Amino acid sequence: MLQANGLRKSFGDLEVLRSIDLTVRKGEVVVLIGPSGSGKTTVLRSLNGLETPDGGRLELLGGPALDFTGKVSKSERFALRNRSAMVFQQHNLFPHRTVLQNVIEGPVQVQKVPKAQAVAEAEALLERVGLLEKRDVYPFQLSGGQQQRVGIVRALALKPSLLLFDEPTSALDPELVGDVLTVIKELADEGWTMVVVTHELSFARAAADEVLFMDGGVIVERSDPRQMFTNPRHERTRQFLDRIL
Ligand code: ADP
Repeated sequence: MLQANGLRKSFGDLEVLRSIDLTVRKGEVVVLIGPSGSGKTTVLRSLNGLETPDGGRLELLGGPALDFTGKVSKSERFALRNRSAMVFQQHNLFPHRTVLQNVIEGPVQVQKVPKAQAVAEAEALLERVGLLEKRDVYPFQLSGGQQQRVGIVRALALKPSLLLFDEPTSALDPELVGDVLTVIKELADEGWTMVVVTHELSFARAAADEVLFMDGGVIVERSDPRQMFTNPRHERTRQFLDRIL
């Protein structure tokens, strides 16, 4: 589904990504862990076309193969953006639009889906996450966990090939985390392809096909969750896990 090779990115003098290689197969769940500032968000933003790497190659199935050593056109970046959808740490919902209006915005405005169809699809998705009765309320009338579930529905409504989650539960009160993780786990079980940045190791254990540990802009270690959490190969991974376990 996704193949990235040698992605590099600097902000001024700060080298944030140093040659990132990443392969995600269809239906796979890849979890990205690592200390704050290690470059995890920048990886996600690069996969989503929100950030333009300075070097490397990136191909998302069905889209153009982008070579960042050369010039990447706006339309190529747009094609990349359209193939994935990101769920942010904060839900990023439009505050003055209802739940339903938030969900249909992308499909109707960007993808030109007929409104009646977009509404029907949005309602089906809201029902799935138990929020259909909230379709006409505004984001401030929802709990943090409900807002985040609407954020997930908004991403799903775009029918992306790849779902990207950037610490989707880290802004939530602890008692709201479970509901959101349950929804993400269900999507994983349904076969959605996803890359998830999270500190929720129990989620990683239950859902990940592969866990990547990033530090200092490189992927230090990659393995299945069992290996990663019980017997990490690298000292840096061990130290990080010791701190958060
Ligand atoms: P993580 O998600 O692992 O916490 P990030 O990818 O957010 O890491 O950030 C990696 C590093 O890049 C950090 O030092 C951060 O301050 C820096 N950084 C991220 N985005 C920008 C930006 N737009 N401009 C300057 N520095 C940035």
